Amino acid sequence: MKSETHIIGDGCSAMMLAARADELESHNLTVVKPEGAPTAKDHMLGFWNTPGLKYAERVSRKSWSNWSIITDSGEFKMSSNKHAYHVMHKTEFLQSCRIKAEMNDVKFIEQKESEQLRPKHVFDSRPPRANRNAMLQHFLGQEIEVERPVFDDSTAILMDFRVDQTHGMHFIYLLPFSPTRALVESTLFSTKILEDEFYVDSINQYLSSHYGVSPKEIIHQEKGVIPMGNLSRHDPQIPGLGANAGAIRPASGYTFVFMHQQIQRAIEDVNKGKKLKFKRPHKAVDVWMDGVLLTVLRHWPNQGPILFSRMAERLTGDEFIQFMSGKATWGIRMKVIMAMPKLPFIRGASKFIFSRPRKVVS
Ligand SMILES: Cc1cc2nc3c(=O)[nH]c(=O)nc-3n(C[C@H](O)[C@H](O)[C@H](O)COP(=O)(O)OP(=O)(O)OC[C@H]3O[C@@H](n4cnc5c(N)ncnc54)[C@H](O)[C@@H]3O)c2cc1C
Repeated sequence: MKSETHIIGDGCSAMMLAARADELESHNLTVVKPEGAPTAKDHMLGFWNTPGLKYAERVSRKSWSNWSIITDSGEFKMSSNKHAYHVMHKTEFLQSCRIKAEMNDVKFIEQKESEQLRPKHVFDSRPPRANRNAMLQHFLGQEIEVERPVFDDSTAILMDFRVDQTHGMHFIYLLPFSPTRALVESTLFSTKILEDEFYVDSINQYLSSHYGVSPKEIIHQEKGVIPMGNLSRHDPQIPGLGANAGAIRPASGYTFVFMHQQIQRAIEDVNKGKKLKFKRPHKAVDVWMDGVLLTVLRHWPNQGPILFSRMAERLTGDEFIQFMSGKATWGIRMKVIMAMPKLPFIRGASKFIFSRPRKVVS
């Protein structure tokens, strides 16, 4: 007999799992719309098309085989023939998952109904909780159209640090859809969220200083806050899924690829006869390295541009993707460690080691 299994939440991880319900033959899946959830908004989701992500690639809007990191010292370019950086609309991804989920007989209900049904298993994909002083990745992005063709649409700019660095590590993320259209995001790593005006001014100043243009039209605006480092489960009594089961990569905020890895592993385990469980998809050594990196960025944010540009200089495009996707070899990790400015990292490592461990989402 199949076990009744409810997933609280209808965001990326819940729908990614629901789309694969046919691979979980021993479970009857139901997606539960949570009470008190904020109105769902569209935003862009970026990912490298590493193995297993063909289903997301199919709904992607554009991809780039070249990407760069820019500092005051210059532009550091990377590329990969095998894997491109893709971006898709979250709503389109969710819709494509919903179609597959309905074909797989997944049910969709409200939270009140779920409580009455008393399912055998419940997993919670509502967002994890951050400590009061947690490092946050906070950003505001605008998809803009400009008057003149100024963007090089063959290259995605992952980080351009040539912006105000007084509030923490700050960079512009620029995805050029065409020579006149781009998603431009002002992103900070710090503990304090700023007024919208700060990010919008940063975008406008950046476009004016480096491209000599200003937006003719704002097509779409999105903003977000991704908590980084150690997080606690939304409800300590309910096992998690997605970000609420540790899928956010502590130092980069990348989550999408890790939700895929988490769900893939859970499906493989169930099909080997194990219990359904969603584990933190990161290796302990990567969590440790990210902890040191976050400690450095919290205390010495001016080291950020040096570190990321050195990484871009010393790793090949494929090695960079492996590192970002949690598939780094020891050789790649050593290259990253060697790229780190030594003194801040020794101080960061000792601060991190001697800081008290906190409760971790697992
Ligand atoms: C603007 C933005 C851009 C992002 N870009 C990227 C990117 O490019 N690449 C990447 O890898 N990640 C990105 N992320 C992180 C992204 O959120 C995750 O990749 C992904 O959505 C996490 O999936 P999830 O299922 O864990 O959570 P979600 O998709 O956020 O789902 C959470 C569920 O909980 C519900 N919920 C939320 N708050 C509450 C509440 N208070 N009470 C009750 N229910 C609640 C929601 O309605 C939803 O059903 C971005 C996030 C934002 C906000």
